Amino acid sequence: MSQHPSQEAWILGQDLSCEQHFDSRQRRYRFVLLGPPGVGKGTQAKLLCDRIGTCHLSTGDLFRASQCLDEKSPAMAAALEAMRQGQLVSDDVVMAMIRERANCLRCGGGFVLDGVPRTLAQAESLEVTLSEIQVELDAVISYEMPLEEIVARLGGRRTCASCKAVYHVTANPPQVKDICDHCGDKLIHREDDQPETIRVRMQAYTEATQPVAQFYAERGALIPIDAHGEPEAIVERTLTALKSHLAVEAL
Ligand code: AMP
Repeated sequence: MSQHPSQEAWILGQDLSCEQHFDSRQRRYRFVLLGPPGVGKGTQAKLLCDRIGTCHLSTGDLFRASQCLDEKSPAMAAALEAMRQGQLVSDDVVMAMIRERANCLRCGGGFVLDGVPRTLAQAESLEVTLSEIQVELDAVISYEMPLEEIVARLGGRRTCASCKAVYHVTANPPQVKDICDHCGDKLIHREDDQPETIRVRMQAYTEATQPVAQFYAERGALIPIDAHGEPEAIVERTLTALKSHLAVEAL
């Protein structure tokens, strides 16, 4: 799978732009995805981006990529330690990284923002940042599933170290144990998918992130989506709900 130019712009930061890759005559959309860790949000983000031809901007991917940097600022080192323990990275660090990447938010190609906002403070700060650059969100999609189902899912999740494809030891195993079907690299059990870390992440979600859905519901932007079923069925469900919310026939 070739890397979308937007991923480079997003991961590496402000000096890159990929706007030239998009046809400016075509309407592009700006969505935020919400949902507990393990609900399948990352998979849905990729499928949705493929279907509507826009960029997947994930803060989790950003922090994981930063783990490979030789030099890390003290703020980034603290952020990565928080991530390793399943805790949320501080709002200041997250929002500074988002503001550094305002190019991606104002890009004519639109975006699917995945993993942020995760606290009310981030939601409020994102609202300010977007209004400063005169960008409006088209909708906030919230994937929903009971938390106990998700804990079982996360414990069995395996991720490709190279291409980031996601598997599950029972529900979606690779053809060869621990080897990625797509690129042949080794599958890893992400540090933040270990049982103790999952417990901490769920608590962080319940306390900090659930109020974010309410924040967007009050603005009439929230679209709840049942996250059960095959990924393709969920993306169809999402597209149907988006078309109805936006009152458009196609996306
Ligand atoms: P994710 O892949 O979205 O589940 O993110 C992985 C980890 O990165 C989370 O468990 C947090 O430690 C950190 N992280 C990502 N996005 C945020 C955010 N918006 N606020 C705080 N921490 C975040």
